[in-house]
Amino acid sequence: MTLFTPHLALLAALTTAAGAVMMRLGLCRGMLQLRKIERRCPACGRLVRDRVCPWCAGPDGSAKP
Ligand SMILES: [Zn+2]
Repeated sequence: MTLFTPHLALLAALTTAAGAVMMRLGLCRGMLQLRKIERRCPACGRLVRDRVCPWCAGPDGSAKP
């Protein structure tokens, strides 16, 4: 018994395509927004682009006392 039949492959492809089309429509009509990449450090409030805040974390990534 094979679980991945051509019918299931077609169904998966069509469902994924429908989801992609709906996402594009939502972005075009302003119903969806892309997540902002920039975020603020909760401790000092500066914009953080890396994984950790470079001002609050030391050069080795550990927190300052
Ligand atoms: Zn910070």
